[in-house]
Amino acid sequence: MGQECGRRDTPQRKLIRTILGSCHDHPTAETVFERARAVRPHIGFGTVYRNLSVLADDGEILRLPVPGGPDRFDGTVADHGHFYCRSCGAFGDVPLTPDHHRPAPDGFSVEGLVLIVGGRCAACLAAEG
Ligand SMILES: [Zn+2]
Ligand SMILES: [Zn+2]
Repeated sequence: MGQECGRRDTPQRKLIRTILGSCHDHPTAETVFERARAVRPHIGFGTVYRNLSVLADDGEILRLPVPGGPDRFDGTVADHGHFYCRSCGAFGDVPLTPDHHRPAPDGFSVEGLVLIVGGRCAACLAAEG
């Protein structure tokens, strides 16, 4: 039960890395768990969640906090922004442009930027009339 146990590259961690590397829908921990369980039926949610946290802490994946909803996870770590639909949970990528860095004050060295745009997608707006 030592901390070092969590740092080993276990088969579970490899699986979670593979799942995130092969999808672009920014799954929640719950969705990653379902996909992992399809491959390893005995994997537990706690194991999946812990490995997601370790991978995010190590910078191998992104953890995207969603206001009022569960965190989403992303296998693409290169700088990019996101939009999400508050109605259906759709979550997609948007490119970042140098303009996005402009709010930083003069002399500030920008090393990272998190952009998450919330709203409603076209399909949900159409369904609502
Ligand atoms: Zn939607
Ligand atoms: Zn993304």
